[in-house]
Amino acid sequence: NRIIFSGIQPTGVPHLGNYLGALRPWVKLQDGAAPDDQLLFSIVDLHAITIKQDSSLLRQWRKEMFASFLAVGLDPKKSILYAQSDVPAHAELMWILSCSASMGYLSRMTQWKSKMSLPSNANPFDTSTSKKKDAPALKLGLFSYPVLQAADILLYKTTHVPVGEDQAQHLEFARELAITFNHSFGAELLVPPQTIISPAKRVMSLAEPTKKMSKSDPDVKSRILITDTKEKIHKKIRVALTDSIQGVSYNRETRPGVSNLIDIMYHFQEEQFTSPEQLAQDLFGPETSLKALKEKVADTVDEHLREVREAFNNAMSMGDAEMSGVARESANTANQLASSNLKTIKAQMGLGWD
Ligand code: ATP
Ligand code: MG
Repeated sequence: NRIIFSGIQPTGVPHLGNYLGALRPWVKLQDGAAPDDQLLFSIVDLHAITIKQDSSLLRQWRKEMFASFLAVGLDPKKSILYAQSDVPAHAELMWILSCSASMGYLSRMTQWKSKMSLPSNANPFDTSTSKKKDAPALKLGLFSYPVLQAADILLYKTTHVPVGEDQAQHLEFARELAITFNHSFGAELLVPPQTIISPAKRVMSLAEPTKKMSKSDPDVKSRILITDTKEKIHKKIRVALTDSIQGVSYNRETRPGVSNLIDIMYHFQEEQFTSPEQLAQDLFGPETSLKALKEKVADTVDEHLREVREAFNNAMSMGDAEMSGVARESANTANQLASSNLKTIKAQMGLGWD
């Protein structure tokens, strides 16, 4: 039996990258699961606070993320859908793992650098970067984010973690941490998990197609939300950054903007075409204007998101008590699994009374 875990930060309404790279694959796993598979999908609010968050906005975003879960087809009868901060064992295991996690390895992770807009060779221990007047200080929580993520996963003896490509490095860290930990305590306490990367592994920003689409990008035109209206979808795609080359052709290196649009269209029609190149060849060509391409992509996105958008609005009209009731019930189940696993880990380490 498989134990599948993944998480998403309540840092805004999910966008196309979250949908194609994570949420939609989660639903596929859920609907194709064997009876003894176990699935957990968490709104990882403790990760969200590694960047400063407004408390009422965080609350709102958590609610919207829960509504998004339901809207895309995650089902609390089939999957455990809960908020990370409702299960204290995540933070407790994180401390335990922190005592085995390597600072050197963490310092090579790219995410804290990109979240602080630092170059990929930035060194957290180099005080000359933090001496710069306006440079924000690197916070311990942002630096050790991958340790909490490892705890999230290892807490449930997860076997499979479905994520986008940006998380592959963190997953490798989690696997190595599990192996090191098992080695030092002489028991197979932790299970090194497998990463499942979605075919839509990296949807790019519409405004800067060499960067991934992100919830926390300050430019709202850089992403399409799963709740965007038809008009908004068309408007954002119309102003998406492309190039001045004639016609439509697919090449991620030389035409990142155009290729990103073709990729997006392809991921909604994976059964009809063998590749984005083939889609571009079959539907478009040297005669097609970029305006026509954009129209077609926007129509496809709108068509496929319409149902999700309507389901989101329905879910948001659920009373607060009803929604938190469902989330709490799931959190209870998660708590039982987590505390039993954590107890075994602590006992092996000599922590806690017998
Ligand atoms: P933030 O900017 O706040 O980090 P995010 O958009 O990166 O938000 P996360 O909550 O960090 O979203 O990630 C949730 C899941 O979505 C992860 O599995 C991640 O790999 C996936 N994901 C995020 N962005 C993309 C993208 N552009 N393409 C494909 N998958 C993505
Ligand atoms: Mg992210």
